[in-house]
Amino acid sequence: MKVLVTGGAGYIGSVVCAQLIAAGHDVVVYDDLSKGHKRAVSPKAELILGNLEDRAGLRDIFQKYKFDAVMHFAASIEAGESMKSPGRYFRNNTAAAIALLEQLSEHGVSRFVFSSTAALYGNPERSPIVETDALQPTNVYGESKLLVERMLPWFHRIHGLSYASLRYFNAAGATAELGEMHSPETHLIPILLQVAAGRRESLTVFGTDYETPDGTCVRDYVHVSDLASAHLLALNALATEGQPKQLIYNLGNGRGFSVRQVIEIARKVTACTIASVDAARRPGDPAILVASSEKIRRDLGWNPQYSELDVMVSSAWNWFQHHPQGYED
Ligand code: UDP
Repeated sequence: MKVLVTGGAGYIGSVVCAQLIAAGHDVVVYDDLSKGHKRAVSPKAELILGNLEDRAGLRDIFQKYKFDAVMHFAASIEAGESMKSPGRYFRNNTAAAIALLEQLSEHGVSRFVFSSTAALYGNPERSPIVETDALQPTNVYGESKLLVERMLPWFHRIHGLSYASLRYFNAAGATAELGEMHSPETHLIPILLQVAAGRRESLTVFGTDYETPDGTCVRDYVHVSDLASAHLLALNALATEGQPKQLIYNLGNGRGFSVRQVIEIARKVTACTIASVDAARRPGDPAILVASSEKIRRDLGWNPQYSELDVMVSSAWNWFQHHPQGYED
């Protein structure tokens, strides 16, 4: 298939592109490199620099290529930041998705894979979370993605769009070549590795008074390669004959780790003392987010290969040590 990948220079998008190419697909990456990295894009993919707000540019690309599918990763992803700049999140995540979906409809592209998030669930009613549980985000990031999920059934009904909405829990880990590098870094595991490497003094623990066993937030971590393989399964499912499809899946491992537990694992993996300082809660953070991913396992045969957190952290540490300056682009 010829696949357009928005945000294909980013952490998850780049790993998905590598797997798409390995599976024989043709990949066009559309990325403004505001957060992504040129060197994360495989030389076998075509990289087009551009922003989703550039409607004319987008239209040209859809006219030039006849895409079989679009995978949409380009988005702002920080829950904490979204509580300071709501407008940016609704523009980059919600409005940009509308612009993209309009191009799909205009050009008859009928397959769409959407990067959704566990943040849709907010403080969940039960754990592990199943896809039919209530959607009640506690931060703007989650709301900006939920709005897209609410639009997709209308594009399905009106334009016959087949879509898969993949609700990621916490992406972690690296492949030998591709890893996580944000600037500024706000994510827990990369920050722990920066502290281990002496690049930062300490990790700030955001909140120690949650209703969790040790008072810190609990998250479900999933290896980026396993996330990526779910995208390929979803794409194949959308491409099978039959009625247009609406697929919604959680992607996690069904096991929660508290911030303190993740710190302990990072200390073991790196064999470094990692200093941490307790601090106030970060606005918008739910206490516990743990996925049930039974549905995608059952429907599509998803079978995560790297479900142990120490394996994820080791792979991230390995990448970090081989790329001390990140992608240097
Ligand atoms: N966290 C933390 N200190 C940091 C970064 C994150 O205590 O410097 C916590 C955060 O509050 C959350 C968990 O670690 O409970 C995972 O946060 P991250 O930003 O990595 O991912 P999120 O769950 O927000 O998608």
